[in-house]
Parts: sequence; C-alpha cells; structure tokens
Amino acid sequence: FNVPAPINEPVKGYAPNSPERVELLKTLKELKQQERDIPMHIGGQEIRTGKKKNITPPHDHQHVLAQFHEGDASHVQQAIDAALAARDNWATMPWEHRAAIFLKAADLLAGPYRARINAATMLGQSKNAFQAEIDAACELIDFFRFNVHFMQEIYKQQPESLPGMWNRLEHRPLEGFVFALTPFNFTSIAGNLPSSAAMMGNVVVWKPANTQIYSAQVLMELFKEAGVPDGVINLVYVDGPTAGEVIFKHRDFAGIHFTGSTGVFNGIWKTIGENISNYKSYPRIVGETGGKDFILAHPTAHAKAVAVGISRGAFEFQGQKCSAASRIYLPSNLADEILGYVKEDLASFKMGDVEDFSNFINAVIDEKSFDKLAKYIDGAKADAGAEIVAGGGYDKSKGYFIEPTVIVTKDPKYVTMCEELFGPVVTVHIYDAEQFDDVLTLVDTTSPYALTGAVFAQDRYAIDYASKKLVHAAGNFYINDKPTGAVVGQQPFGGARASGTNDKAGSMLNLLRWVSPRAIKETF
Ligand code: NAD
Repeated sequence: FNVPAPINEPVKGYAPNSPERVELLKTLKELKQQERDIPMHIGGQEIRTGKKKNITPPHDHQHVLAQFHEGDASHVQQAIDAALAARDNWATMPWEHRAAIFLKAADLLAGPYRARINAATMLGQSKNAFQAEIDAACELIDFFRFNVHFMQEIYKQQPESLPGMWNRLEHRPLEGFVFALTPFNFTSIAGNLPSSAAMMGNVVVWKPANTQIYSAQVLMELFKEAGVPDGVINLVYVDGPTAGEVIFKHRDFAGIHFTGSTGVFNGIWKTIGENISNYKSYPRIVGETGGKDFILAHPTAHAKAVAVGISRGAFEFQGQKCSAASRIYLPSNLADEILGYVKEDLASFKMGDVEDFSNFINAVIDEKSFDKLAKYIDGAKADAGAEIVAGGGYDKSKGYFIEPTVIVTKDPKYVTMCEELFGPVVTVHIYDAEQFDDVLTLVDTTSPYALTGAVFAQDRYAIDYASKKLVHAAGNFYINDKPTGAVVGQQPFGGARASGTNDKAGSMLNLLRWVSPRAIKETF
C-alpha cells in the first residue's frame, strides 16, 4: 500500500451552462424547496431534542432553510461516552484502513457530494459559487488527500536498529478524546479539524459554529458514507460555554483542535490550565485564531499589483477570512495611484445574492457581525481623523450586506488599524516614503496578531530587509502577492503571537500533534 502523492484538486469554472453550474443550480433549488430538520449525531444515532432553532441564509434572513435540534450538557456527555466506547477499535485499526476512509471521503466530495456541499455553503454561509468551490470542495478534498499522504510519512518514520536489537516507534493516538471546535467561515476548516485528529486514530467530539451547521450536516453524511465508524466523530450543537463546561472538566480530555477568535481561545486555554491536574495527560492545545493582516507597499512597489492585492486580499470572501488584508501601509509617492486603482476595482464589484453568479460580494454571516461592522463604519464617518474613500454603505433589510469599504487614516494606531473587524472593511495609512524603517516598526508592533502579511517592492534589498525585520510579524509571509489564498500542500498555514499555536493546518506538523509516540526497544 502506497498512498499516491496528491495533487491539488482543480477548481471548476462554473461557466454559464457548464455541467457543474447546471448541477449546482439544480441542487440549490432542491435545498431551498425543502425545510430540513437537522439532528445531532452521537454514536451513529441521530439525536432530535425537539428544541429547534432556525437556520436562515445571511443574504435572505427571512427565509428558513432548516431547523437544527439544539442539545445541552447531557448531549456533550453522551458524545464523550460514545467517543470513548469507539476508541479501542478505532485506535488499533491498521492505519491503512483509516487512510482508505479519508481517501474515499475525498473522492466522494470531488464527485457526488460536490454540488451539495457547495450549495449548502452558499446558502448557509452566504458564499458565492466560486468561493464555495475553493473552500468547501477543493480545499477540503486537499486536506483529506494531503493529510493521508503526510500520515503515511509519519508512520514510515522509524529509528535506526542495530544487530541484536530492534527499535521502533508506535505512533499511538492520544489517550482520551479530542474536542474539535470549529468556526463559521470555512467549511473546509470545519471538515478538517475533526478529520485530521480522527485520521491519526483519535475519537472526536465536534462542535461547529451555529452559523455553519447547515453545511456541517452534509460533512457528517459524507464521513458516514466514506466509512467513518459510529462514535469516531460525534457532532453536537450546543452553545460553546456549555460544551466547554463538560469537555474541559473531563478526565479523558486529551486535546483541542480549535479555529476561531483569539478571545475564545484565550478563555479555553485558561480553563484548561485551571483543570490541568484533572487530566490523565497534558492535553494538546492546537488553536488557529484571529488576524490583523497587513499589506505593506515599498516606494518601489508596482502600483497596480498592490491595488489588486488590496482588492482581492481584503474583499474576497467578504473579508471573512482570518488571512484577509485589513491594514494597509502605502508610501506617499504611490498612494494616490494605488487608491485610484482600488476604487476602479470596487466600482466593478457587484454585491448581492449568492445565486447571481456575477455578484462578487455577498452578505456577512449574521446580524452581530453586521452591527459590529456598521458601528466601525459609523465611527469612521464621525471621526475627523478618518476618511471613507470608497463604500461606507450598509443595509440589513433583506440580508446582512456591507459595502466594500476603504477607510484612510493619518493615525497609524487608529482603531480599525488595530482591531480584527472580520468583514469587507479595510484601513489604509499613508506613510512618508522616506520613512520605510519607521513603517516596518509600526507593522510589527501595531497589532498583537501575526497571521499573514504581504510586502510589495521591486527593490530586492527592501524585500530582504522587510523580511528580516518582520520575521515574527506573520506565519504566512507573501512577497509581491496578496496575503490570502494559501493552498494545502503548497503554503502550510498558520500564525503565531495572538494568531495561534502555528501548527500549520494540512501539514505533517499538525498531524504530529495528534499522536503520542511510544518508543519500543527489543533485544534478541
Ligand atoms: P468564534 O471564536 O466566535 O467561534 C469559534 C467556535 O468556538 C464556534 O464553534 C463557537 O460556537 C465556539 N465558542 C464561542 N465561544 C465559546 C466559548 N466561550 N467556549 C467554547 N466555545 C465557544 O469564531 P468565529 O466567529 O466562528 O470565526 C471567526 C474567527 O475565527 C476570526 O477571529 C478568525 O480570524 C478566526 N479564524 C482563524 C483561522 C486561522 O487559521 N487562524 C481560520 C479561520 C478563522
């Protein structure tokens, strides 16, 4: 058995009348016609509590797509029990069987599940077809295939032996269960966090964000059809603190695979610390958290390239990417030209429903996010130190729509230069082109985050200098490219400082967090 070296799943084009567009439109129509009833999944059973909550599309919040059954602390306990009951068989199964399951999941997702996962992501999370295809289909297929490949590499790693002695490493899964706590913004992340830990022989309790349950349900069906045994991945819909209360006090809690905001992760880390003496082992704490990602243009930068980096890096996916560019530093000699190009781009961006394939911008995830963004925009409108040079409009009458907005400020520490906004709002600071050194210090020290960042320059010394001065400012550092769009297997993804534990999703580094190796020496 040798897992083939994976190649990245090609992104489909969805041209008018193409087979993929026809199928996607048909699936969207079908999903919208039936109001679905979404149960939790514990130990292979569908659990309906009767406590139903509506799921509505962010771009059309009066339309009820589905209702999910909300659970409570007792369901979290049941999920842990089911996971622990499934553990021994799963942990001792030869890894090739686990590999086969997730390779099959990749093939199912590339084939019969593709339209459904994309349609569910479009409707539930307000992504257009191109965004859904990149996220829910291609990236998750890549996570499955590349992780299986890395898994094989890990199991192959064995120490040297000598005559009369045999050394070997047994890559045991963790002793206990893993908690996968996933965010709303990427279906692929929601699929990857439980599956990567499970692939290495662990059993998992998975709690998605409420705003991602519509596509999480499709992923659970996919896992089941691919052959993940009952109890290995258990899906619960419980509010975060309630889930945490049961999980983090449990003696068999062995690790958390988290993606979400820094504040929530900080709270979780603290709770784990408070309970540390209750656990059998020190839990693995893996978290990818917030970002305040930068674009820095040097006075020698190519103006048009910087502008494309801003338009795409800040506004694709409605800016709801942890890697989205959100603070921009432009040199005084190029700022007008770059901002002119950005405004031209924004004038061509259409905003609206996900089913109109010409819309570039869709709705932000929910009312809370909308209100937060609107408040920052209002703040900028009222503040003499800030100027809105593009966008600035918002409307939540039908869906949660925020116009792509560019704020320019003289104050490099202006609130929107520092805080994570997580939406289509970007802030620009124009610096004196003679003061590149000072701006590097600003980039490095303005935000506690260090996820992604991009430097644009044609002067090679400037690139080298910036790269050295900003060595800790970003876990994913881009030169003359936008700071978004990391591809599994090409740019392992993750950040340090307040952006997470930098365990690089979709890489061997991440999978190694889910094993606890036993070294065995045998003499003859
Ligand atoms: P969030 O932190 O609000 O929620 C993440 C998960 O934690 C959800 O399942 C949520 O229900 C749960 N949760 C919330 N409060 C909790 C609590 N007190 N106890 C236990 N669980 C709790 O994040 P979100 O809004 O879903 O996602 C957006 C955030 O995720 C942004 O900050 C973004 O930067 C970050 N993100 C980071 C990466 C990365 O790779 N670094 C990738 C995607 C998203």
